[in-house]
Amino acid sequence: SLKGKVALVTGSTSGIGLGIACKLAEAGADVMLNGFGEVDGAIAQVSAFGTRVLHHPADVSDAEQIADMMRQAERDLGRVDVLVNNAGIQHVAPIEQFPVDRWNSIIAINLSSAFHTIRLALPGMRQRDWGRIINISSAHGLVASAGKSAYVAAKHGLLGLTKSVALETATTGVTCNALCPGWVLTPLVQQQINNNAKAHGDVQRATRELLSEKQPSLDFVTPEQLGELALFLCSDAAKQVRGVAWNMDGGWVAQ
Ligand code: NAD
Repeated sequence: SLKGKVALVTGSTSGIGLGIACKLAEAGADVMLNGFGEVDGAIAQVSAFGTRVLHHPADVSDAEQIADMMRQAERDLGRVDVLVNNAGIQHVAPIEQFPVDRWNSIIAINLSSAFHTIRLALPGMRQRDWGRIINISSAHGLVASAGKSAYVAAKHGLLGLTKSVALETATTGVTCNALCPGWVLTPLVQQQINNNAKAHGDVQRATRELLSEKQPSLDFVTPEQLGELALFLCSDAAKQVRGVAWNMDGGWVAQ
């Protein structure tokens, strides 16, 4: 049980982050949500499990705003015991045409934000000798796809960060691991499907093609399944799981 524990999940107003936040709250954790868009809906959904739920609107591409979010979590919820670095964006373009500002945003949001949240959360975790850091990487943290240079670089980088932090905390009660999802049908992926559909036909066909190109199961991973895996990493049984990149990808990287 995570009763008495506090979780902070970046990018948790939608998709995978929201799914993980729900599972952590269901297990008893108070939760600091973060992200844009449907904030009230996300707060209502996670609050349904009866724990304390707050939201901080930090843009995680900004180190100052991250620092404010971490301070507020410690001030208003008392601590951060479970840190899930999930916020992420995508942009697809060949590298010669890749917009420089998109590259910078993707590195900032998908990679550097985790450096900042981790360096700010670790002192408290060390003090209490308990912590769980879970970085949401991707199958694209392990293998590449054409057109996704920034995303692939950031997600590979996030796995390197995960291993470094795991070593620096190896003798403590703090663990640091990464999840590497395959396709999950969230707004981030729906946008790619819609773009492909514009080029080659209808959305249903674009969905089938997206799965069959990469994911042997031909079925989407769900935020709930990823939430269950995150819960396992929070358990005592997972204390010696350190520095791993755990793929849940319908067979994507087995190929
Ligand atoms: P999503 O678009 O549904 O959710 C992204 C969340 O991040 C939202 O809450 C959004 O408001 C927030 N966000 C975006 N920019 C932000 C910023 N600058 N500051 C703070 N919050 C910000 O996407 P998702 O598919 O749920 O993706 C979540 C994570 O999972 C990402 O890191 C993504 O790379 C990763 N991932 C997704 C898939 C997939 O198939 N959907 C696969 C592998 C990995």
